[in-house]
Amino acid sequence: MERMIAHLDMDAFFASVEERDNPRLRGLPIVVGADPMEGKGRGVVSTANYAARAYSIRSALPISKAWQFSQKAKRKGRPEVIFLDVDFRKYSKVSHEIMEIIRKYSSTIEQASIDEAYIDLTHVESFENAIEICKKIKQEIKEKEKLTASIGLGPNKLIAKIASDMQKPDGLTVVHPEQVENFLEPLPIRKMPGIGPKTELFFKKQGVMTINDLKKYSKDDMRNMLGSPRTNFAQTQSVFRPKASTKLVRGKWGFDLYDRIRGIDESPVTEEYEIKSIGEQETFREDTLDFKFVFERIEGLCESVIRRLKHSDFKKFRTVVITIRFSGFETKIRSHTMPKPAGSLKVLKGEIAKLLMPFFDARENPKRKKIRLIGVRIEKLS
Ligand SMILES: [Mg+2]
Repeated sequence: MERMIAHLDMDAFFASVEERDNPRLRGLPIVVGADPMEGKGRGVVSTANYAARAYSIRSALPISKAWQFSQKAKRKGRPEVIFLDVDFRKYSKVSHEIMEIIRKYSSTIEQASIDEAYIDLTHVESFENAIEICKKIKQEIKEKEKLTASIGLGPNKLIAKIASDMQKPDGLTVVHPEQVENFLEPLPIRKMPGIGPKTELFFKKQGVMTINDLKKYSKDDMRNMLGSPRTNFAQTQSVFRPKASTKLVRGKWGFDLYDRIRGIDESPVTEEYEIKSIGEQETFREDTLDFKFVFERIEGLCESVIRRLKHSDFKKFRTVVITIRFSGFETKIRSHTMPKPAGSLKVLKGEIAKLLMPFFDARENPKRKKIRLIGVRIEKLS
């Protein structure tokens, strides 16, 4: 049976959540990401809202560049960019609510990142019905979350994914099975998931610009030319990482790409990105920078996290995450993934201590700001 798959992608997700929650930010250019530190900051942009994109600011741009673009705009009399830290906890909560909305419309969904999901709509039997469902999902997200999503609808995940990006923000792009090849052919090759800047450059040197141009290569050509796909994961502290999908054997990518540029993708919608983490946090009665006090409290959090781990279906963790919120609500999240899983309180305390220390000196806290909230989380549970 012909499948019907939707891909939902929230529009400028982190920035839109901030804009929604802070009315004074509305309409202003907003960048969520690393601290720009007046242009000296390291790290990158996680999300720019559409007003900031008008300044050429994009996800993954170095935050120092974003700062320069903002200053340039300011000199021209345009509003300066508002830079905000990534509030991962907040976005996770909103993400969870959105996934709950989607689940009402299909029991087969696959969360692909914090703000993206594939939805299998084959059960509704016609594209007309599937389109109606997509409209309802968008509407419900708008009403309940005051946020917009873009959806692509097509016969498989690949087409749905590319389609969702075609009419952002607030778009709905439908590609019927018989339109697939016409839809793909004129697109720049970079629109094909898996084709990163290196592969793009490689093909451009050979005069290949569009997906149609790629069709001149045989399966063997493709296999010989291409190794594994480059993966460009989000630079945020996202806990969503595709599982095995990127570990392709050298050469296999060529075969895959040969099919994919023809719109062929058999991969099922499966819940393989399940999010598993255990976290605890505590807001202090008074903001403080008393190391002994903070350290004791954080040890307490580690103890309850391990207690919960012991009562869960899991025994071990690989990633430890610390959240520090300063007075004034600036929040920093730092994480470390260990080469091997561990399960003991001792390891957790040790790893968390390493992440905590820099907040008491110039590395993470040059202005000696007081701490308002601390959080400890473990991820990559097994
Ligand atoms: Mg998005």
